[in-house]
Formats: sequence, structure tokens, C-alpha cells
Amino acid sequence: MTPTDHSSEKDAYPITERSRVRRGHRRVDYAAQTVHAVLDAAPICHVGYVIDGEPYVTPTIHWREGERIYWHGSAASRFLRQAEGQRVCLTVSHMDGYVLARSAFNHSVNYRSAMVFGIARVVEEPDAIADALRRFTDGLFPGRWETLRPMTTQELKATRVLYLDIEEASVKARAEPPSDGDEAAHPVWAGVLPIRSAFAAPEPAPELGGDIAFPTGLSALLASGRLR
Ligand SMILES: Cc1cc2nc3c(=O)[nH]c(=O)nc-3n(C[C@H](O)[C@H](O)[C@H](O)COP(=O)(O)OP(=O)(O)OC[C@H]3O[C@@H](n4cnc5c(N)ncnc54)[C@H](O)[C@@H]3O)c2cc1C
Repeated sequence: MTPTDHSSEKDAYPITERSRVRRGHRRVDYAAQTVHAVLDAAPICHVGYVIDGEPYVTPTIHWREGERIYWHGSAASRFLRQAEGQRVCLTVSHMDGYVLARSAFNHSVNYRSAMVFGIARVVEEPDAIADALRRFTDGLFPGRWETLRPMTTQELKATRVLYLDIEEASVKARAEPPSDGDEAAHPVWAGVLPIRSAFAAPEPAPELGGDIAFPTGLSALLASGRLR
């Protein structure tokens, strides 16, 4: 399968020994649509893998196309060289709020997270690498690739793109007030402190000429209130 030859999307992921949630069953969802939404809303992921018996978890930017999740970096990166062919576990998490209950024990957090399993593969062909990077850039900042100084052969050589095809995946999510049960009458403030991630005001590069306008596409992104 080539890197742009996306697997057709699934309805739900299989529940296996790896992906079966043992704790918090009512918070879990294996529906592909839910998994994709949680993955796509996250600006970064963490990729976990074992090399020579040692566990590593690397934070990195990701993007999804169908059932395929990509990440990239320097061709010199030990992480990107050694992950090839390895089973990896990729996670994303959104911290949506602190949940303050009437007892310390019942404090919690509201969150959305996804955990995905698959095998890390490398995009080999320079044209396929360039294509993947273009889709990545335009996916984040629509139309930006065309406006940029073209990538050089050297830059392409220096960039490694990996991907995994989702084999198993689960989402866990909590979006509730505190659950204090019989202790709800205890006289202390209880509730949720919501947390939102958002863009702040753009900071133009110091040498940017005053005649260069802020791209319209980026204004739409900032106005959307979403990180991607
Ligand atoms: C922002 C955030 C904060 C959290 N804080 C805490 C905390 O302080 N203490 C705590 O105990 N837990 C916390 N959790 C939940 C935590 O991620 C685990 O789900 C929980 O600890 C159960 O772990 P386990 O190993 O017993 O899961 P198990 O149920 O044994 O895991 C089995 C399988 O279920 C799936 N799964 C498990 N957890 C998740 C998940 N979070 N997202 C998607 N799939 C999952 C995976 O496929 C996993 O292989 C937090 C989650 C998030 C996103």
C-alpha cells in the first residue's frame, strides 16, 4: 500500500486484549468517528514504543488521513529511525476541566483521550514525502504550501515521515459535574473549572514588511476557536 493509498474508514475498531478498557467502561468508545474526532482536535500526540527493552514516549505533531496517522521529523532523529517496523502506541489527550468534589477522593478531571495501536512505517519516496508534508501543512494552514519557498532536495532528504494504520483504538472521555453521591450536602464549593486551549494574538516576525498582510485563511483559523 502506498502512503497516499488510504485504507477505507471503519465504523468501529475491534475490542482486543490490548484495547479492552478494564476501568471506566462507561467512558469508553470504540467508534471510528469518535476516535478520529479526538485525534484530529489534538495539536500533538505522544508515540510510545520499546527499543531494546527500553520504553520511550515521544511527543510530536501528527495528522490523520483516513485510517492512517502520520508524524514527521529530522531524518537524524533516533526516535524516527528506530521506530520503523515497531509496534507503537500513540495517544492524544485533551484536558477539559478540573472537577472539584466535596471530598478529595472524588476530585477528578474532564477529558477526552484516544489510544491507538499500530506498526510504524516509513514513507520512502521523496515525492511521497513532499506530498505528505504538503497535505500536513495545508491541513493546518489551508493554502499555505503554495505561498512558501519550495522545499529543496536537501530539506526533503533531511525529513523523515512515518505513519501507522490504525489497528485498534479507543477513546475515553469524561464530561460531567462531580459525583459526590450522598455527600453532595457537604458545605464546600464543588463544580468544574473548565480549561480551554486557544490561540493568542499573532506575533509577526520582527523583519516582516508592513505590506505583507496576515493570511485570510489564518484569520479563519484563529476565529474558529480551535487549535486545528
Ligand atoms: C487528561 C487526563 C488525566 C487523567 N488523569 C488520571 C488520573 O489522575 N488517575 C487515573 O487513574 N487516571 C487518569 N486518567 C485516565 C487514564 O488515562 C486511564 O484511562 C486510567 O488510569 C485507567 O488506566 P488502566 O491502565 O487501568 O486502563 P485499562 O482499562 O487497563 O486500559 C486497557 C485499555 O483501555 C484503553 N484505555 C485506557 N485508558 C485510556 C484512555 N485514557 N484513553 C483511551 N483509551 C484508554 C486502552 O486501549 C488500554 O490499552 C486521565 C486521563 C486523561 C486523558
